[in-house]
Amino acid sequence: MGDRGNILYLVVPCYNEEEVLEHTAQVMREKLRRLEEAGKISFKSKIMFVNDGSKDGTWRIISGLCQKDAVFSGICFSRNYGHQSAILSGMLEAAKHADMVVTVDADLQQDIEALDKFIACYESGCEIVYGVRNSRDTDGFFKKMTATGFYKVMGLLGCNVMQNHADYRLLSKAALQALTEYKEVNLFLRGLIPTMGFPSDVVYFDVKKREAGHSKYTLKKMVSLAIDGITSMSTRPLRMITLLGFLVSMFSLVMIIICLADWLTGKNVPGYTTTLVVSLLTGGLTIFSLGVVGEYVGKIYLETKARPRYIIEAMIWKEEEE
Ligand code: UDP
Ligand code: MG
Repeated sequence: MGDRGNILYLVVPCYNEEEVLEHTAQVMREKLRRLEEAGKISFKSKIMFVNDGSKDGTWRIISGLCQKDAVFSGICFSRNYGHQSAILSGMLEAAKHADMVVTVDADLQQDIEALDKFIACYESGCEIVYGVRNSRDTDGFFKKMTATGFYKVMGLLGCNVMQNHADYRLLSKAALQALTEYKEVNLFLRGLIPTMGFPSDVVYFDVKKREAGHSKYTLKKMVSLAIDGITSMSTRPLRMITLLGFLVSMFSLVMIIICLADWLTGKNVPGYTTTLVVSLLTGGLTIFSLGVVGEYVGKIYLETKARPRYIIEAMIWKEEEE
């Protein structure tokens, strides 16, 4: 095992997960116990739930679990800040005690048995281990299409995210330490973490159906994650606008020359359609471009305000009594 510690923290973001949480907790507890008994992780390992402003009984369940068993610990946000903020806060809190942290969804879709492989990679010297799903068979048609489209668009727009890697990943103490240096408000961990470097590896796992409840990633949340991902990782859309502007200008120049030539030779017929099409097109492109620039200006606005990325309302963490 080398000289690296082996306290593992599982960080689990939860948003309205009351239907699945008790079961998840039990399965994760059992897995941790097996890993502890096999000597792979320390008995000080914990499961840390982050309640991302749930409107249902999620926090009640989490605090109940924490009362019964010190292996559980919980963070409660003051409101819904989103999946990315939830896992970030979990990781930063866990980093205070853990040698390695694995972030995993509350719905048990990501095969918890893959933990052995994550830990093996860590022991062989990896600081970051990325979980990559084997297939998308369990996803519905809509989810499959949107997810695949998302990765395609991201790649085109200059943000190279790992295909089919969600947020099931292990970070070591060193990687977590590096992560604390990133102060940005606009967070897209999937894009950010690979830019940190470090010896890393990939673990493949199977995706299962959601154990209970329904997806908490609404279309609105997905679109917003995609836009945040692109604008936080790449300025290529701005470059594309410049290029587009240049092309339109060139086209206009040619048009002007043609018009002048027609005028000089006395052939200037009234071109109603051309005028309308050109002005509508350029009008549309201008507004769209302003919108894209606006996205970036908005991001700068939020970054300069540097508001807290989340507010923790309550936290439960107990020393293991042994
Ligand atoms: N989640 C969260 N905040 C949100 C939305 C989702 O913490 O605003 C959590 C959710 O509880 C789950 C994980 O993020 O643990 C992934 O969400 P979900 O399983 O609903 O997404 P899907 O698997 O459908 O992409
Ligand atoms: Mg899920």
